[in-house]
Amino acid sequence: MGDPVLHAPADHVDDITDDIRGLVADMFETMDKAPGVGLAAPQVGVSLRIYTYSYQDDDGAPWRGVVINPVLWMTPPAPGDPDPDEESEGCLSFPGERFPLRRSDRVLVTGVGIEGEPVRIEVDGWRARIMQHEFDHLDGILYVDRLGDSDWKTAQKIARKRGWGRPGESWLPGRDDLEG
Ligand code: ZN
Repeated sequence: MGDPVLHAPADHVDDITDDIRGLVADMFETMDKAPGVGLAAPQVGVSLRIYTYSYQDDDGAPWRGVVINPVLWMTPPAPGDPDPDEESEGCLSFPGERFPLRRSDRVLVTGVGIEGEPVRIEVDGWRARIMQHEFDHLDGILYVDRLGDSDWKTAQKIARKRGWGRPGESWLPGRDDLEG
């Protein structure tokens, strides 16, 4: 949090080059090592519209992939306050914390994959939350920006205390002892 790349809209990917394929491979590795359920390119300092995701239900098959230049549609979120037990999320760019946030329960994401093939993801529940969270990163939005007043203030206090909120602060999964 605080690095400008995380707080500005990312750029459209024009061509899927070897560099892009290498970046995506690195992103999968970083996401798995963190570990996280998603990772957007701005989180590794690259202002491009790419994110990876990886999630497994208790009983389900692994669900993972990458989306380049995603477009997101969603149903309106239910009214009311989020349930802290069921609707809290975290972020590798605001590590070690979780806050409740109401999200839309159902989304459709379209875009392209690593071979330029069309991608279409229609999901609900926790998978829909991951899609919204990662998509937000491509628009320069952190989930803490969306919190209710009191949680937002708490998040700002935490960021100040830890010296976040300025450029150049980073952590490396596998080397730095952090969780997120
Ligand atoms: Zn995040």
